Amino acid sequence: MYYGGIEAGGTKFVCGVSDNELNLVERISFPTTTPTETMIQVLTFFKKYQEELAGIGVGSFGPIDIQTDSLTYGYITTTPKVAWQNYDFVGTLKKALEVPIAWTTDVNAACFGEYVAGHGQGLKSVVYYTIGTGVGGGAVLNGRFVEGFSHPEMGHMLLQRHQKDAYLGNCPFHGECLEGLAAGPAIEKRLGKKAQNLTANDPFWQIEADYIAQCVYNTTLLYAPEIIILGGGVMKQPQLLPLVRQAFADKLKGYVATPELSAYLKTPALEDDAGLTGCLALAKEIVVCQKL
Ligand code: ADP
Ligand code: ZN
Repeated sequence: MYYGGIEAGGTKFVCGVSDNELNLVERISFPTTTPTETMIQVLTFFKKYQEELAGIGVGSFGPIDIQTDSLTYGYITTTPKVAWQNYDFVGTLKKALEVPIAWTTDVNAACFGEYVAGHGQGLKSVVYYTIGTGVGGGAVLNGRFVEGFSHPEMGHMLLQRHQKDAYLGNCPFHGECLEGLAAGPAIEKRLGKKAQNLTANDPFWQIEADYIAQCVYNTTLLYAPEIIILGGGVMKQPQLLPLVRQAFADKLKGYVATPELSAYLKTPALEDDAGLTGCLALAKEIVVCQKL
């Protein structure tokens, strides 16, 4: 029996198939273009495994509809990516492949991946952020996603602009929210070069660390999770995580006793595989649950 995973990102899709123990059998990746073109690639990949495929887990860019009683459950809804607005993602998969589909956000999937197979193993509560093209956040508590009328949109929390930062933020909805101030494109627009081309001692990293530390501060006081995992392209700067830990400690001022910061604030153990691993684990879960 095989499980399928689809990490549907705004920039690229990653599809994978695993065996029953979630060992990867095959994985492919391609750019996100139009729904028609991209879904043909997705379906062509999974059709090869249709005989053995028991279920698929999808972690999608969003916002998405996760309300099971909604007429548009399984749709990507109000995304800024116009071609994908109101796209029936789950319906398209179900029709073509006739297997159960687990459906959540891309960042929830990555959070679940770390929860089952990364730094979250053995813990009850994990919060995961990705700081990349956008900023997204997800939370798992006792194996379930934290959600209400919809999924969280933690990447758009409001922050205080840093004293030394004149950039007003580039979120089309909120200007200076976390994503508008700290995502990769905000760095590039502010400084005229890509984040990966700044030197490790560029003074901007203090400002970036301050924004991420505000996010960690808010997250700590809202959820008191056992761990906060910080992933995405921008966190690939090795000097950034220590700066975030320091800035967070400076802000919190010992108000609550968190776990030791070197264990509390981590980059993902699964690195770029957190999302796909989470999707595969969600596929397995939905298949196992349907049999119970
Ligand atoms: P996505 O969010 O599209 O899934 P990434 O998480 O790789 O993909 O995020 C891409 C963003 O991260 C870009 O804005 C890019 O400039 C930035 N980025 C990628 N690699 C690095 C790096 N090594 N250092 C700093 N920024 C990076
Ligand atoms: Zn915003």
